[in-house]
Amino acid sequence: MVLEQYRNARKTFGFSASRKAKLFVEKRNFSITREPKGGKGKPKHKPIFVVQEHRARSLHYDFRLEIGGVLKSWAVPKGVPFSGEKRLAIRTEDHPLEYANFSGIIPEGLYGAGVVKIWDRGKFVPEKISEKEIIIELRGRKLKGKYVLIKTKFSKNSWLIFRKK
Ligand code: MN
Repeated sequence: MVLEQYRNARKTFGFSASRKAKLFVEKRNFSITREPKGGKGKPKHKPIFVVQEHRARSLHYDFRLEIGGVLKSWAVPKGVPFSGEKRLAIRTEDHPLEYANFSGIIPEGLYGAGVVKIWDRGKFVPEKISEKEIIIELRGRKLKGKYVLIKTKFSKNSWLIFRKK
């Protein structure tokens, strides 16, 4: 039953359910404990997205989507476009969900040192989520409408982001 739910979650998110999350479920007896087990396919709440303006060594915008319990992240040097213009989005490491609330200063000498501001945030409706292509409808204050993220062949972490007409 629980494994079935995990398979559904995997289908929903495309990305593999993490080994840790699987262990979390396997270690617990959910007919006894009241802990939430997660993995019930589509989450009840709409997932969130955030765009953080990051004035580090060079200005860029970190685009993050809540997928599979983490923030899948891309650095977009020119910012997320309001139009169909295709812009480079470099896949970066997953961030914890709580990071979506972060704004402030990353001290000098540390990774990503500089000022982080929340540029936009909101919910999104997933349409397609796979390892190579993501189609979502953004419902932010600034960014609204259907967006596409698509992996390129140029390099491992190179994607493009654009608004779908
Ligand atoms: Mn950054």
